[in-house]
Amino acid sequence: MKELSVDILIVGAGPAGLSAALEASKYDINVLVVEKNPRFAMKPCGEAVSRATLDDLGLKPSRKFIRNDIHRAIVYAPNLKDYVEIKEQGAGYIIDKEEMLKEIASLVSRNGGSIWIQSPVVDFTWKKGQVNEVIVLRKGERVRILPKIVIACDGISSKFSWKLFDHKGYELIPTIQYIYRGMVVEDEHTIMFYVGNKIAPRGYLWVFPRGNDEVGVGIGTRGAPARPFLEKFIYKNKDLFSKAVEVGYGASAVPVGGQLKERVKGNLMICGDAAGQVIPLTGGGIHSCGIAGKIAGRIAAEAIINDKVSQDFLKRYEVEYDRYWGLRIKQSLKALKAIENLTDNELNELAKLLTGEDIINLANGIDIIKVAKKLMKHPIMATKIALRLLS
Ligand SMILES: Cc1cc2nc3c(=O)[nH]c(=O)nc-3n(C[C@H](O)[C@H](O)[C@H](O)COP(=O)(O)OP(=O)(O)OC[C@H]3O[C@@H](n4cnc5c(N)ncnc54)[C@H](O)[C@@H]3O)c2cc1C
Repeated sequence: MKELSVDILIVGAGPAGLSAALEASKYDINVLVVEKNPRFAMKPCGEAVSRATLDDLGLKPSRKFIRNDIHRAIVYAPNLKDYVEIKEQGAGYIIDKEEMLKEIASLVSRNGGSIWIQSPVVDFTWKKGQVNEVIVLRKGERVRILPKIVIACDGISSKFSWKLFDHKGYELIPTIQYIYRGMVVEDEHTIMFYVGNKIAPRGYLWVFPRGNDEVGVGIGTRGAPARPFLEKFIYKNKDLFSKAVEVGYGASAVPVGGQLKERVKGNLMICGDAAGQVIPLTGGGIHSCGIAGKIAGRIAAEAIINDKVSQDFLKRYEVEYDRYWGLRIKQSLKALKAIENLTDNELNELAKLLTGEDIINLANGIDIIKVAKKLMKHPIMATKIALRLLS
């Protein structure tokens, strides 16, 4: 069997893995990314990101990977009459995730990092609290990799994360998305969200115009199957969909239960969906997972350069991530738990009380205390939501 020693082995070329590689490859060390699939971004995705995502991931906005600019979002209450509007010029984008990941990959390669596609990790050895060797099937040939550090960014079914880390609280919800071409939307720069127990139980349904006459229509639910609710929505809105054709479909799961308490063991770090680093209320993970990869990549590289590979040193990644992003994930989870059991009438009421800014704060876990204080003035929302947010 071929054998290869590397400083840092990164498993998975999603937003977390490639961001880790981009950061680590800035140093004069040996970085290898292995990706099981023959292409990037084969998992379905709504592909909605904020403007800050690109800045934070070290990318300049480019038509190469931006499908559509987003200036407005509308969150519809269950009665479909009340809604909250969020307006901001240049607030975000619908990206072409595969193209965006290709862009990051090319930056990694320019820095001297290597990326192998069609190369799943099929096995690894955990000895004396370290990953000693990783077996990769590179285009059908087994290769034994001897890494100093492994950063596992291999998504929801991560071999490393499930084998070695405690998954208490980790919750996967079903999500599916259709892509339609030829669907007429009122404004192609507005993304729309629908909530309600009859529309998307304890989750939401989205309609994201992608430009080029295409729209992504998807749903995530909790405690209920996703597909029948999406089919019902499409049927109820058949006027909109009647001239459109389905050109894509995908289903996967999103971890919305918050991040794993521990994300470093020995010389192993885990990032992204594998570590539950998604913003729970929105289900968005490109930004938060990418940042985790970025921090882990830098800390791993510093450990190599300074000859300090140890669990203690690598734990700096957990501390740094938790300072801002860990807190946001925690607060967004709190908001999700506060809202999940509201009745449709209560959700209708909530839509009348909240502003766009409140929704952004709640969903992203940014300033939930401010929203809580506002809801304290309302007789029902005070006990149903505000107290939980303040707890
Ligand atoms: C339907 C849907 C819609 C979504 N919409 C949005 C959205 O609009 N905006 C947003 O921000 N987020 C969205 N998300 C969430 C977002 O896609 C994820 O949180 C994000 O992609 C996580 O990045 P990651 O790198 O951790 O994992 P992933 O993107 O899952 O990447 C993991 C990679 O590891 C590879 N891999 C797995 N096992 C192995 C192995 N054994 N060996 C080698 N490679 C392996 C996989 O092939 C994959 O490429 C959505 C998710 C879903 C399912």
